[in-house]
Formats: sequence, structure tokens, C-alpha cells
Amino acid sequence: MRRPVIAGNWKMHKTQAETRAFFEEFKPLVSASRHCDIIVAPPFTAIAAAVDAAKGTLISIAGQDGCWERAGAFTGEISMPMLIEAGCQSVIIGHSERRKYFGETDAIVNRKLKAAIEAGLQPIVCVGEDQSERDAGHTEQLIERQFNDGMATLTGPDFSRILVAYEPVWAIGTGRTATPEIAAEVHAFLRRLAAKRFTPGLAASARILYGGSVKPDNIRGLMAQEEIDGALVGGASLDARSFSAIVNF
Ligand code: PEP
Repeated sequence: MRRPVIAGNWKMHKTQAETRAFFEEFKPLVSASRHCDIIVAPPFTAIAAAVDAAKGTLISIAGQDGCWERAGAFTGEISMPMLIEAGCQSVIIGHSERRKYFGETDAIVNRKLKAAIEAGLQPIVCVGEDQSERDAGHTEQLIERQFNDGMATLTGPDFSRILVAYEPVWAIGTGRTATPEIAAEVHAFLRRLAAKRFTPGLAASARILYGGSVKPDNIRGLMAQEEIDGALVGGASLDARSFSAIVNF
């Protein structure tokens, strides 16, 4: 039995004051929710406020990105050990917005995965095709490349620390969700890739989240799929009521 995970990715939203206000409203709404891991990924500047606000709860805090180096001349970057020191337990790596706007390649994703694991963070690694890749029938080819190249050089024990998020780019922030069946099909494909690259046992216990316009009204259908172990939520995680409704699916 794989434990569900509901993770919120706030992207470039919320000040520290807004973060504190969110947690004030959110905490009582999920205080009895023990059926899943709850993760919130605020922007770097609000991590300390989120960690402080989440103290004494089961909510854990994630970074939205982290550098592959531990320290050095990398202006504007935040290292994985810095995220740990700030109180994060996990980190999102290879989000499609990082790939699209900041030139992140599978090789960079691989280096970040290694750095995150070495620092003791749980990586949430994102893969997913865009509309043209899906239309051209290249979804599996693309996912296979992102998975295998991202995981290159990682060991089985490394993989056991990772959460995989399938996020079709055409469904992110568009209001278009993949049907539960489409998502489950790709999740099953990812599990076969994991079995081939690592072991069938590790593939069976890997937690694979779906992301792309997840909302309170579609989370149940998604979670009813055996292959879907949770959700990575963008827009709907910004509102305490809608995110708690997703957590309490
Ligand atoms: C995301 O950015 O990871 C995401 C899934 O966004 P949204 O839920 O807004 O589509």
C-alpha cells in the first residue's frame, strides 16, 4: 500500500505575511488528515515563515528548486543543504516551468537529484509532455528520455527516496486536466520504466503523483486510480479551503 502524497507548489506567489495567513486558515482544516503526506512548497523567501507556521503539524515544507552545487559562486542560487537548514524536507526538481523558462535539461535534473539526495532531501521530480509532443504521439518517448536521463547514475536506494510527478504541460494552469485514465496510463508506463531501470520491487513501491489543473472537484476521480498515488497542485494550492479539500479527498 503506497501512502498518498498531496503537495502544493505555490510558484512565485505569497509574501511571508500571506504565508502566515494561509497556514492560520489551512492548519485547522487538515489537523485530522492523517491519510496522506501533506507538502507545501512556498517561494524561497517564505520558507522560514512556512516552516515556523507548520511547526507541530504533519505538514512538511519543500523548496521549489535547488542548485546542484553545495556552495560557491552561483549568484541567485540556493543550495540543497541551505534548504535543509531552512527546514525543508523535500524539493521539487525539473518542473516544466524550470525546463521551459530557465533552460533546465535532463542532465541538470540529474545533477540536482543527486545533490538533493546527498543533502538528505526528498526530491519530487517532474516529467511530462507538451501538447505538440502528445499530438505527435511522442508522449512515451519523451517521458522515457526524461526519466532515464534524469535518473542516470542514480542507484536503487537513491530512487527509493524520490517522488515522481507526472505533469503533462498541456494541463498545467490551463484548466484542462488529463482524464484519470490518461494519467493512469502514463503512471503505469513510468512504473514499467522504473522496473526496468531499477527493480520491480522499487517500481511497485514508488509513489507517482499527477499534476495539472488538479482541483477539489477532480481529485477523487484521479485518486480512485490505483496507479495515482497523489497530486502536485499549483493554482488550487494557493487557497487554504481548496487545498484542504484536495488533501481531504
Ligand atoms: C504545477 O505547476 O505543478 C501545476 C500542476 O499547476 P496547476 O495545478 O495550476 O495546473
